Amino acid sequence: MPIRPYDNKNQLFLLPPSVNEWVRVDHPARVLSDIVDQLDVSGFRTVSTEGRPCYDPRMMVKVLLWGYATGVRASRKIEERLHSDVVFMWLAGLQKPDFRTICLFRKDNQPAIEGLFAQVLVVAKQMGLLKLGLVALDGTKLRASAGIGSFKKLSEWRKELTKAQEEVRRMLADAEAQDAADDARYGSDRRGDELPEGLADAKERVRKIERLLGQLDADTEETQRVSMTDPQSRYMHTQTGSQPAYNGQVVVPRDQIIVHADVTTEPIDTNQLAPALAGVERNTGAKPDKVVADAGYKSGPNLRLLEEAKVDGYLPETEERNIGKLKRAYPDLYGKEVFVYDKERDCYTCPAGQTLSPKTRHKHKTKYSGGVATVYRAPGGVCLACQHLSRCTKTRAKTGRAISRDDYEEERLRMRQKLGTDEGKAIYGERKCIVEPTIGQLKMVGGIARLLLRGLMGAKIEWKWATTAHNLLKLSRLIAGGTVKPVWAT
Ligand code: SF4
Repeated sequence: MPIRPYDNKNQLFLLPPSVNEWVRVDHPARVLSDIVDQLDVSGFRTVSTEGRPCYDPRMMVKVLLWGYATGVRASRKIEERLHSDVVFMWLAGLQKPDFRTICLFRKDNQPAIEGLFAQVLVVAKQMGLLKLGLVALDGTKLRASAGIGSFKKLSEWRKELTKAQEEVRRMLADAEAQDAADDARYGSDRRGDELPEGLADAKERVRKIERLLGQLDADTEETQRVSMTDPQSRYMHTQTGSQPAYNGQVVVPRDQIIVHADVTTEPIDTNQLAPALAGVERNTGAKPDKVVADAGYKSGPNLRLLEEAKVDGYLPETEERNIGKLKRAYPDLYGKEVFVYDKERDCYTCPAGQTLSPKTRHKHKTKYSGGVATVYRAPGGVCLACQHLSRCTKTRAKTGRAISRDDYEEERLRMRQKLGTDEGKAIYGERKCIVEPTIGQLKMVGGIARLLLRGLMGAKIEWKWATTAHNLLKLSRLIAGGTVKPVWAT
């Protein structure tokens, strides 16, 4: 079998090769480039490079978006690709901005990337996409650029500061004592400005901790863990354990083009429904008909918000793994659903036929939510004499079984009934097929599971680049596959 010779690195061309021939005509990068050519990039601030003409922001946008679309996000890696990857080289028109320029351009253009995200949605709409019927909302933990070891409780940082200040004081006192001893022994001809070894480090540590404490909100709890390297990141529970992270939110319709993307420092999703609905309306000019989201978004205020906004919501009960310890240990205990509420008389009837009347009102408050509830109980002594007691309550309280009811009970009941129907179950079942693959693509293909930029603003910037790139790639594939026609061809 003849072997093809390949040792032709020094071969000369009769005609100079064209960079445009290096990328095949149906490559998604070409469609991405065409779409970016339709967008207004005048909001992007160019980065000046030591007196030389600035790079074209459109080229920088294309390179960064292609990087996010293909999981090449680190500025040094992008710079390397600009020297070795024909698609990057073609997108950059053979220009080679260095990693500092790429890094600054990404960091300095937060409002512009927000605007570009919205512009891509306008293009999608012009191509007949984004028919907002049903949308799925979900959150995902984005690993912060901070080591686990950089986290300590606020109270521990305060102790650390006192220790570091004490160390500086001790070093200065030791140095003074040593100076005095040296003066007495050798005369006072020393300059007296020699710094004791380690003093600069100790002072630097004091400065760093003071700066960290100065950045924290006044209401930060003493038990909250705070990172020295990224004070705004939070310790969050993820599938791979507790990690410093941010909570990235997305809203996705059936065509999997992200219509809202944001990042929060709150580890739970409860307070993200309202901003997500507002974001969808701002970005698309329309309200979705239906919203599906997991149990993390379910709260009384959220259910009322959906009803008032006339958005058909599908938010299920708390997941099995999150139910209370008591319920898990004793699954046969009477649930609240077996107590019948009488709205007229404002009381419950229990399985033993006894009446539970309002006894107290109590406020409940967690870090991210709160409210007021009424507690209903049977008359004194009734529960303790009841033959159902062991199935009704496991607490040893002499007051017997208590039922708590807040102002959103009716919304909860309506939601439970809706999700109990076959239609409700089928609609909720769509959530898994819409939003989970989208988040999977962002993390597995785009590599956004771990952030590069620090701080909440850094996390927001990266999330916007990643979600914009995801949308452009999606549009590119739809155009390349002939599913939709590009706006510029119509
Ligand atoms: S324990 Fe109290 S609330 Fe429970 S069934 Fe008996 S009387 Fe009713």
